[in-house]
Amino acid sequence: AKKTTRGSTQFYQDSMSVQAREELMLENDIHKAIKNDEFVMYYQPQLNVETNEIIGAEALIRWMHPEKGLIMPDAFIPLAEESGIIIKLEEWIFDRICSDAKKLSEDMGGFNLHHIAINVSTIHFLEPHFVEKLMLLVKKHKVRPEWFELEITESGIMRNVEDAIQKIKELKDFGFTFSIDDFGTGYSSLSHLKELPVDVIKIDQSFVRNMNENDEMIIEAVVAIGQKFDLEVLAEGVESDKILEYLKDINCNTYQGYFAHTPIALDEFEALLKPKK
Ligand code: C2E
Ligand code: CA
Ligand code: CA
Ligand code: CA
Repeated sequence: AKKTTRGSTQFYQDSMSVQAREELMLENDIHKAIKNDEFVMYYQPQLNVETNEIIGAEALIRWMHPEKGLIMPDAFIPLAEESGIIIKLEEWIFDRICSDAKKLSEDMGGFNLHHIAINVSTIHFLEPHFVEKLMLLVKKHKVRPEWFELEITESGIMRNVEDAIQKIKELKDFGFTFSIDDFGTGYSSLSHLKELPVDVIKIDQSFVRNMNENDEMIIEAVVAIGQKFDLEVLAEGVESDKILEYLKDINCNTYQGYFAHTPIALDEFEALLKPKK
């Protein structure tokens, strides 16, 4: 009987796809990592193209694994989305970003950035209680919705346009702002852009890093669209002064990129904001 049991267990495990097994492992690991405080939020400054002043930051997660060392989000976020554990993880992320923002505001004698940008997974965004959850969170931390910009993706919005528009409107009424992340890479939401009450378009870094002539046409088209719809246009992945100069020439509004700053820990970000003596 023992052998049969082992045999069937073996069969069950073998029949699980490699991916299903990876997801299961990752789910357990993420639960453990939250409990053991292994995740950290980094902040990548966002700057005004014209003045080079820091106007905000995008929060980006890092996993400081006790054995594997630093794990970058691309190695676990997509899997976390497939398994659904992303919702638990983002609850932790949002909580941490709120407390970081609170700390920043207290240390700086007020919140004097435009915003901190938060990546929102579509799976989480389309969850029925998403709006309510965010409201409870800002109340809990005594932070203001105006401090935060929620980054959603085109392809995410396209999954359920009606629901997305409804939620964006509700959250904007409370004071949150919105950006469309990775613009240009998903399904084109050009036809929906006029209905979407977002504030910022983020040009995907694939068009900006190692920019060529085709990329230039796309970047200029997006900047024109932004002007037409009265949206801020942010270029991601600016790695050289040449590209920054180009962005200045075409009147792109804001940027992020290694040329200015890589993502950094909260205290380093704070140090950048403090007036130099
Ligand atoms: P993303 O939202 O497009 O974030 C921008 C990515 O570009 C970040 O990678 C950032 O470090 C990188 N980057 C910024 N400037 C440059 C540059 O000049 N050159 C190059 N080569 N790269 C640059 P990161 O931190 O590895 O994050 C990767 C992706 O993981 C993010 O892409 C986002 O989709 C996801 N992610 C990161 N943090 C979170 C999070 O807290 N929640 C969710 N849902 N997703 C996250
Ligand atoms: Ca983003
Ligand atoms: Ca992006
Ligand atoms: Ca991305």
